[in-house]
Amino acid sequence: MSESKVAIVTGAARGIGAATAVRLARDGFAVAVCDLDEAACAGTVEAIEKDGGRALAVGVDVADSAKVSAAVERVAAELGPPLVLVNNAGIIRDNLLFKMTEDDWDAVLAVHLRGAFLMSRAAQAYMTKAGWGRIVNLSSTSALGNRGQANYSAAKAGMQGFTKTLAIELGKFGITVNAVAPGFIVTDMTAATAERVGVDFEVFQQAAAKEIPVRRVGRPEDIAAMVSFFAGEESSFVSGQVIYVAGGPKA
Ligand code: NAP
Repeated sequence: MSESKVAIVTGAARGIGAATAVRLARDGFAVAVCDLDEAACAGTVEAIEKDGGRALAVGVDVADSAKVSAAVERVAAELGPPLVLVNNAGIIRDNLLFKMTEDDWDAVLAVHLRGAFLMSRAAQAYMTKAGWGRIVNLSSTSALGNRGQANYSAAKAGMQGFTKTLAIELGKFGITVNAVAPGFIVTDMTAATAERVGVDFEVFQQAAAKEIPVRRVGRPEDIAAMVSFFAGEESSFVSGQVIYVAGGPKA
């Protein structure tokens, strides 16, 4: 067990992050389950341990530089050097441009982009030293444009440029960097969107499924499976890529 590689998943208390943490533990990684509230990570840690895996709950605000440094050092000390990082933590603050506040803009850019930057900068120190690493960033089909999401869309498009640049810089150290861009996935985030537009979540999902070529909405496990590929050994010649996991070319 102590020889397992260590993976960090941010925003892993629920949704896509939780499913990804569980999947990576099944793949044999010891997983640092990171989220804003350490106590909220207990469910994911328990699911991993029940499955026979190893996990550590870590409270961290990914947008806070000092907290990120402390969290990544703690992971290294308690689990081992982190060699996989999944930048999944995210928030939405949707509004049409004319109603979008500066706080809405700054909050979204801070969690997604600044968060991915701070976490990647801290984790790469361990990966370059080991000569092996995997960074997987969560983008979105919203990177292609989505009404009411100027902030989120900019952040998720930014994640793609960030991914490609890190792939170029870190490749020579045996580190690959890729992005997964989900379409509609059933989580609290899409439930919040349904609530904002005043539509029952079930009805919202059915309407979304009609627009998706495979005629269903996505599950967190659909994303976890793609992250698992990027985190593993077999994807070592794939870097700087963005894979849309959306039931079609886009959702
Ligand atoms: P979710 O259910 O809302 O979970 C996001 C998690 O991130 C929450 O546990 C949240 O904690 C945590 N978080 C927020 N701010 C944080 C911070 N500053 N530091 C650390 N953790 C923080 O979202 P999801 O649907 O699973 O989405 C996961 C990722 O996939 C996000 O990057 C999202 O943008 C992306 N994505 C989702 C969809 C979709 O359809 N669901 C589609 C495309 C892309 P709190 O609960 O404490 O806020």
